[in-house]
Amino acid sequence: MPLLKSWVASANDANHPFPLNNLPYGVFSTGEDDPRCGVAIGDMILDIAAAEAEGLIALTDYPLFDVPYWNDLMEEGPAVWAALRERLTALLAKGSKEQEAVEPLLVPMAEATLHMPLVVSEYTDFYAGKQHAQNMGAILRGSPDLPANWLHIPIGYNGRASSVVVSGTPIHRPNGQTKAPDAEMPSFGPSKRLDIELEMGAIVGTGSEFGQPITVDEADAMIFGYVLLNDWSARDIQGWEYQPLGPFQGKAFGTSISPWIVTAAALEPFRAPTPPREKQLLPYLSGSKDGLYNIELEVLMQPEGADHASVIARTNYSRMYYSAAEQLCHHAIGGCAMNAGDLLGSGTISGPDRTEFGSLMELSWAGREPFTLETGETRGFIEDGDTLTLRGNARGDGYTIGFGDCVGQILPAKAWG
Ligand code: MN
Repeated sequence: MPLLKSWVASANDANHPFPLNNLPYGVFSTGEDDPRCGVAIGDMILDIAAAEAEGLIALTDYPLFDVPYWNDLMEEGPAVWAALRERLTALLAKGSKEQEAVEPLLVPMAEATLHMPLVVSEYTDFYAGKQHAQNMGAILRGSPDLPANWLHIPIGYNGRASSVVVSGTPIHRPNGQTKAPDAEMPSFGPSKRLDIELEMGAIVGTGSEFGQPITVDEADAMIFGYVLLNDWSARDIQGWEYQPLGPFQGKAFGTSISPWIVTAAALEPFRAPTPPREKQLLPYLSGSKDGLYNIELEVLMQPEGADHASVIARTNYSRMYYSAAEQLCHHAIGGCAMNAGDLLGSGTISGPDRTEFGSLMELSWAGREPFTLETGETRGFIEDGDTLTLRGNARGDGYTIGFGDCVGQILPAKAWG
């Protein structure tokens, strides 16, 4: 599919992240106005709440956009999702007869503040990157061998929805309990091994029934869209707490997502297969569609006071071993109900080369081999004041599907007591 031309001129640039082909969904405010739903088109945001109030969008006989989140639309299901996309494309296409009515509802993105685009009902984080799992094995256990279950199960843990925040929200370095290998007693204080995880977040649109298993194909159709996701991680807290029940406080203090939900429909031309299976998956984990997407990903780091950010990693979402649909199927297979607004983190995305590693733990090999930024600073883990940015783009024929940056700055730990 080529670039779809819009009467919003900035949307027609081949490198602009928000062409008519994209139409990602966010929540924005300007000045003192209340946050409301909007759609990115070029350098502008279409005020969807206003468009619905004026009758330009009427998908249901009750309002969907009188709330500052996209969950109500998600719950309507795929037919209404498709109808909205079709209607928005018609309103914003070059030559649209409704240009005059729509134009006053556009707000310059530069004047807008972006908010959480959805109410995250629950958050689950997976571990589906094979290179990452091998690297972590090599670093933590001295062997890159995968755990015995890894090639059979999309491993995950139930995380915290309460600490998922939108891009731009600062994150305080967490306090917690850690223990040095040779210490007799654990100690309490700010994490000294603060890290990122480069992930994609899949957003469940239509739910599943309690007690009802689903297939991979059903799961694929339930996914509404994707965001970039930074699963901030305190490696020293995690290292002391994680056996035998898995991550807890080392992961619970913050998860950042990019501000725009890029729909599965916009990503459809970029579907990519999962890699060859090294062990045959059990039949319930097989689907008929390519479940990954070809999305170029970058991680940037900028110390406080540095004049620019340095790219520290570049990889691709298609490096993953398990797709979001496989993860969602596995999540529901025992009867766990999935709901609109459920957020599934992919797991850290790392490619085979060192330049493709999606965490500082891997990039600095647990701090043993610090790396150097373009601006001269060296890093093993994150220091106070550092800003970390995730960026994602799918490259089409004369157009780009961008996600909007997922940015977070680390602030010093809060005083306790
Ligand atoms: Mn993670």
